[in-house]
Amino acid sequence: MKVDRRSFLGLGLGAAAGVAVTPATWKLMDDSSIWTQNWPWTPVPPAGEATYDNTVCSLCPGNCGIMVRKIDGRPVKIEGRSDYPVNAGGVCLHGISAIQYLYDPSRIKAPLKRENDTFVEITWDEALDMVAERLTEIRASGSADKIACVTDQTKGTIPGLFARFLKATGSNNVYAMDTMEKTWEITLEKIHGGRSSAGFDLENSDFVLSFGAGLIEGWGSPVKNFKINSSRKERGSTLVQVEPRLSNTAANADVWIAAKPGTEADLALGIAGVIIKESLFNSAFVTASGKGFQELAAVLGKNYSPEAVAQTTGVKAAKIIEIARDFARSSAPIAIAGRGRGMSAGSVREFSAVHLLNCIVGNINTKGGVWTLAAQDYEKWPAVEMDDLATAAFEQAPLDSAGSMAGLFTNAGKEKNIEALLIHQANPCFALGDAGSVTEAVKKIPFVVSFSSVMDETTQEADVILPGHMLLERLEDRPSGAGVAQRVTGLSRPVIEPLFNTKNPGDTLLELARKMEGTIGASFPWESYEECLEAVTGDLWAELSDQGYAAETATPPGGGVKVDFSFIVKSQAPVEMEGEAKDFPLVLVPVDNVRISAGSLISSPFAIKTVSDNVLKGKDLLVEINPETARANKLSHGDLAVIETPKGKATVRVNLFEGIMPGVVAMAKGLGHVLDNNKYVGGKGVNINELMGPIVDPVSGLDAAWGIRARLSRA
Ligand code: SF4
Repeated sequence: MKVDRRSFLGLGLGAAAGVAVTPATWKLMDDSSIWTQNWPWTPVPPAGEATYDNTVCSLCPGNCGIMVRKIDGRPVKIEGRSDYPVNAGGVCLHGISAIQYLYDPSRIKAPLKRENDTFVEITWDEALDMVAERLTEIRASGSADKIACVTDQTKGTIPGLFARFLKATGSNNVYAMDTMEKTWEITLEKIHGGRSSAGFDLENSDFVLSFGAGLIEGWGSPVKNFKINSSRKERGSTLVQVEPRLSNTAANADVWIAAKPGTEADLALGIAGVIIKESLFNSAFVTASGKGFQELAAVLGKNYSPEAVAQTTGVKAAKIIEIARDFARSSAPIAIAGRGRGMSAGSVREFSAVHLLNCIVGNINTKGGVWTLAAQDYEKWPAVEMDDLATAAFEQAPLDSAGSMAGLFTNAGKEKNIEALLIHQANPCFALGDAGSVTEAVKKIPFVVSFSSVMDETTQEADVILPGHMLLERLEDRPSGAGVAQRVTGLSRPVIEPLFNTKNPGDTLLELARKMEGTIGASFPWESYEECLEAVTGDLWAELSDQGYAAETATPPGGGVKVDFSFIVKSQAPVEMEGEAKDFPLVLVPVDNVRISAGSLISSPFAIKTVSDNVLKGKDLLVEINPETARANKLSHGDLAVIETPKGKATVRVNLFEGIMPGVVAMAKGLGHVLDNNKYVGGKGVNINELMGPIVDPVSGLDAAWGIRARLSRA
């Protein structure tokens, strides 16, 4: 690689990095405030009294505390809440766009039912009756186990109500979108035993070795990590970024290591091998806590010498040795995994190899290390009442046969496998790998019910839409996650009356349960979701409702931790990318861009307007390739080209970039939405999920796709 810091800045990305790491994005906030007033569909407030309401942003797993400025009762501006433990006054550009989401042209304004290829408005009673009758029929036919639900996450009382509704009905088919959090949970369970969530005490670490984690691109809890990274130099902490392209995080790092995509686990094992061989590991910790260490040391010594790993990864042996020494000699080194924003799952082999580094230096449950946090346990639910139909159906095997969403939708394509699907805050027809096949599978499901606030790709396939309130209209508890080393529960609360004929999904489920036959209603004794939330959060409610959040002190979990090194030896099968090199000589990798939402959330018009011309120009998506790759494929900067993978093909434009490894093609995630009623975001770019994935991880069953073989030719 020829790119150094100076030539990188010359490539014009420095300014983008600067904006991204500024936690209090005042300029952007003002821009958003002004722009929001200028969108044709956003009402301009009259003059009036200015007031402020606190709430929690639920647009991503960061769950930041925010303050909403209102004029005459109408929200006009979002700012970060300075006393909130997660974001401490910061807010990202998606958070400041929350007002646009309120008035978004894609919003669903009333319950809808499908009639042929269109939707017609119906009353809430009609909509709920339709859903209750259909689900009751499915139950009566003995197929309650063929009802499935997909949500954005598993934590909190709204996902809890969905799981409860499914259980009372007789189904254990509740799925949440795959994220790095799940892979970390499985990795920690395999290595340490017992279920826990990973917390990363980056703030107190003096050496962060990141295997693709986009600390500036919005990894984990985005604002928290922007701020931690911004103070890195003052704290004397080093960041080493392993990534095949010069992302903003790599450019901001002290050291950037360009490793071949998909070889991160090998690199981590090579570094671990050096630490063990040179006796730089924490022998007291390893002796007291570990089993299988000698066996692991032998495998690393035999198969992962710096020279062998250099061949696999493309990283020089001397650099591997240097990083290993620097990491092990730091006082609080931490190694982290989860590519980009961490909104996708990864391979357990890779996460285990990375976490091995934390284990051998003994930085588990210590200041500046990885914390094994017990699951949030504030939700106190009464037992679910299950009638005979529910009890019999609940015992049936899950629908996915692989423990994953990928398996669920593969099976959904089979006749009568899923009879009904409930979708809440998830957009699998866009956000899952091989999105085209997922959409075809969803089309085959006889009855699809969406609780979405907006008309996204999956909701377009629904038979009935029970529209939910949008952020700023909705009450909901928001437990922290995404790697935050502190258990914080926030309360997202309404700061404005609902603009349209929508409901809180919690209230919708309570009403639906009461309309169902059998004992289902008995499991939902609350008059309203608010009453349910207050009852279920129990002791926490007073603090939540008074302060807007409840936070535990950020201290490492007590007690010892065991380490099963033999698991790392056992989980050695790499997750191979799809495609043959002879047919597809390049590797396409997805890239998270801090300005583009890539999960179930659709980018706001404001956020899309801020995306660089090097990523999206008009409606054309640009892929990054090295000039060497361009020469080999007879392409020049700006050319229209066709990118083909084993999964599909698309027309793109070429962006030449010295900061990407030859042979690699990088494409932004989150573009290519098909949204007929949203000209600001719809029809712009290409959805990378039409071109790649999924690859089911052999250990976790989650989608571990990180790239796919590809070829590129002039259009
Ligand atoms: S980081 Fe996430 S939770 Fe925080 S303001 Fe941005 S979108 Fe909202």
